Parts: sequence; structure tokens; C-alpha cells
Amino acid sequence: MVHFVGAGPGAPDLITLRGAELLAKADVVIYAGSLVNPALLERCKPGCRIHNSAELTLEQVLSLMEEAERRGEDTVRLHTGDPCLYGAVREQMDALEQRGISFDDTPGVSSFCAAAAALKCEYTLPGVSQSLILARIGGRTPVPEQFSALAAHQTSMVLFLSAGMLEQVQRELLKGGYAPETPAALVYKASWPEEKTVRCTGGTLAQSGQSSGICRTALVLVGDFLRGEYTRSMLYHPGFTTGYREGQV
Ligand code: SAH
Repeated sequence: MVHFVGAGPGAPDLITLRGAELLAKADVVIYAGSLVNPALLERCKPGCRIHNSAELTLEQVLSLMEEAERRGEDTVRLHTGDPCLYGAVREQMDALEQRGISFDDTPGVSSFCAAAAALKCEYTLPGVSQSLILARIGGRTPVPEQFSALAAHQTSMVLFLSAGMLEQVQRELLKGGYAPETPAALVYKASWPEEKTVRCTGGTLAQSGQSSGICRTALVLVGDFLRGEYTRSMLYHPGFTTGYREGQV
């Protein structure tokens, strides 16, 4: 059987308990070496065969999985963050289904959650933003959605895979309608020891990327949630009645 597992954003103790258990039992581990922290591999049992998928094609990954399956072994496919975001997992899952190989999926802490933790912020602030757009700018991988149209919502936004194109990001965000003074941030290697955060604005993203040297393994955050103003939540307001608590007048 193949287990897709979210490795979390980097810190080796941010994998889930289930993910760690699967990793400890696996006969074969195929990990996304460009971003998964190799410290996680210390959890593998002796004799576990470990492959770095950064050096492999989809076909090679699949044949490793097929070989393990023939031997009646368990494979862990370890993806960074949560596999459901930019993980190229769907094509693997469909190919496994075609081959009659069963698989399951264990979620992980995505880097956009670790970035919020690094900045001690909340994407959904009452009176400011109740939506979060997860996106990327088009590069070698084309983006079917019109990026500036996403920006037009001016809600909280997190951009993956875009830190190397900050000039373009800045241009498109402003074209979409964010004011140049909208707060923004770059979060490099959230949860790793070398984590770095840079606060800036929509209009200074490119310049901040240049002066900080951040151009990869980073997320771009933009939106008024990074400001200090918001209204307090109804949920914990003394006057608000919920299914669990009677409001006081
Ligand atoms: N599935 C992953 C995303 C993979 S795409 C997840 O859920 O997080 C790879 C991109 O994710 C990187 O280019 C970078 O933009 C972002 N990323 C992954 N780990 C990161 C981290 N620890 N800190 C900041 N960005 C990270």
C-alpha cells in the first residue's frame, strides 16, 4: 500500500502523529527532497529504502511504488506541507488507481499555516477579511486563473512558488487593485531554524525581496489582515448568545 503523507512545513516535530507512525513503519520512503526536512528521515526504520523524488520522474516514482507493492511492502510518499497544495499528488493517485494499488492520504501542516504562526497573525479577521486566497503567479507552470482578477478581491492572500518573481507579483497585485500601502510580508522557510520574516507593503515587495535576498522557499502574504485594526469577534463577546453560552445584556 502507498501512504501519501504531509511532512509539515519543515520543523521535524510538525509532522502529524499518524504521519510519523507511517514513516516509522515504511519499507520504502520517497520524499520530496527539495523541501522536506531530511531530519524527518531519522524516523525511518533500519533497512528502509529512501529515495529523493527531486531526482526522479513521475514514471520512476511509480515504478518504485509498483516494485514495493509486488514485494508486499508499504511505501510512504512524503510531500512537503500538505500534499493537497502544489503537491502533484493527483497524477500519482490516478496512476495508482489505474494499476489497482491502494493508497491513502495523511494531511500535514501547510506552510501557509506555519507562515501565519511565524508572523503571529490571523488571515480571517472580523471586519477586515473572512476569506483567504491561496494562489501562485504564472511562471514555467501556466496559471489558468487570471491572477490580477484574484487580487481584485483584496482579501487575505498567500502566494506559493512566487518569491522568485516579486516584480511581477507586485505589478499584478497593484494592477488587481491592492493599494501600494497594503501590508505584505515575505516568510522564508517558516518553522525551520533559518526562518526569516520581512514585513513590507504591496508596493515594496520587489525591493524587499532584493534587499533581504529572499527569492525561494518563501511565501508572499498580502492583505489588511497584517494591519493592527479589526473588530472583536462575536463568538467571544459577552453579549453574544451561542449554542454553548447565554449572552448577557
Ligand atoms: N504542499 C506545500 C506547498 C508545496 S509548493 C504546502 O502545503 O506548504 C512549494 C512552495 O511552498 C515553495 O515554493 C514555497 O512558496 C512554499 N513553502 C513550502 N514550505 C515552506 C516554508 N517552510 N516556508 C515558506 N514557504 C514554504
